[in-house]
Amino acid sequence: MPVLFKTFESSYPIARLTSIQSTGLAPLYVECPTAEALIQARQTYPKHYLIGGGSNTILDPDNPTPVLRFTDATMHHTHHNRVYMRAGTPIAKALRQCSDWGLSGLELAAGVPAYIGGMIAMNFGCWGQTVAQWIHRVHYIDANSQLAWRSVDACEFGYRSSWFKENQMPVVGAEFDLTPTDTGRIRTAIADAIARRQTAQPLRDKTYGSMFLNPPDASAAQLIDDSQLKGYQIGDAKISCKHANFMINTGQASFHDIQSLLQNVQDQVYARTQVKLCPEVCQAP
Ligand SMILES: Cc1cc2nc3c(=O)[nH]c(=O)nc-3n(C[C@H](O)[C@H](O)[C@H](O)COP(=O)(O)OP(=O)(O)OC[C@H]3O[C@@H](n4cnc5c(N)ncnc54)[C@H](O)[C@@H]3O)c2cc1C
Repeated sequence: MPVLFKTFESSYPIARLTSIQSTGLAPLYVECPTAEALIQARQTYPKHYLIGGGSNTILDPDNPTPVLRFTDATMHHTHHNRVYMRAGTPIAKALRQCSDWGLSGLELAAGVPAYIGGMIAMNFGCWGQTVAQWIHRVHYIDANSQLAWRSVDACEFGYRSSWFKENQMPVVGAEFDLTPTDTGRIRTAIADAIARRQTAQPLRDKTYGSMFLNPPDASAAQLIDDSQLKGYQIGDAKISCKHANFMINTGQASFHDIQSLLQNVQDQVYARTQVKLCPEVCQAP
């Protein structure tokens, strides 16, 4: 059987795998252009970390766990308001194509460098909406390495969680039921969503979005802000002055800068408020 995936040993910059663009090389990066390649790579490297857009991930150059990425970005308009998208589709591409097809729904994620697979695993959400509300069913690789479908009701979507994330099951695609809408209105909604993000978030900086989950009935950003930590910096990792729950890389932030800053923020917020913040950001085991 030919090898269907491509490997990069200590030659692929972490800056190209994650939106925080920290320093160092991935010890082993495995690119999987098809579902068959992903199945084969998972069998070759049973212990691995599956990455999507890397927009909520930090990678440690000293962690030897292979990093797999599924890069299939194909999409089909199957019928009426239903679209099938492969997990490797960047949301920017999905939005361009869906607006051409006159199908609305996913504009909430405009401006974010995520892939469809990562958005499903994390149940991406903002402004009172989540990606789960548009999903019909999810296509994934089951425990027997077979392609299978899971209906939305069985996906156990929660706050930044899903059955796929909790059980480390790889999503290869999903069917979405979107809303037929005029293309011009969708493009306006995309521009509005980007503008709204730009006013509140450091969208032009190297960042991975929220550092911590919101505790029940509280805002992580508010707790960090109340602890006077906006602008707090370790090495090149800094708490954004625009949004207290966003960390930015001001230049050459290392994994250790990022980890130290996360730990310090957690400790300082706890000392002040007795609330222990839980990281939202993901990392390889
Ligand atoms: C500027 C900015 C703004 C953001 N705003 C928001 C926001 O408003 N709301 C929000 O929810 N998030 C936000 N985020 C965080 C991030 O975009 C989301 O968590 C997104 O869902 C992550 O997608 P990804 O493809 O980048 O996943 P990654 O960071 O690559 O991975 C995240 C998790 O998903 C798993 N995963 C990835 N691909 C797959 C797959 N194919 N199958 C199974 N598991 C997979 C990974 O193993 C990991 O556990 C923002 C990030 C940035 C940089």
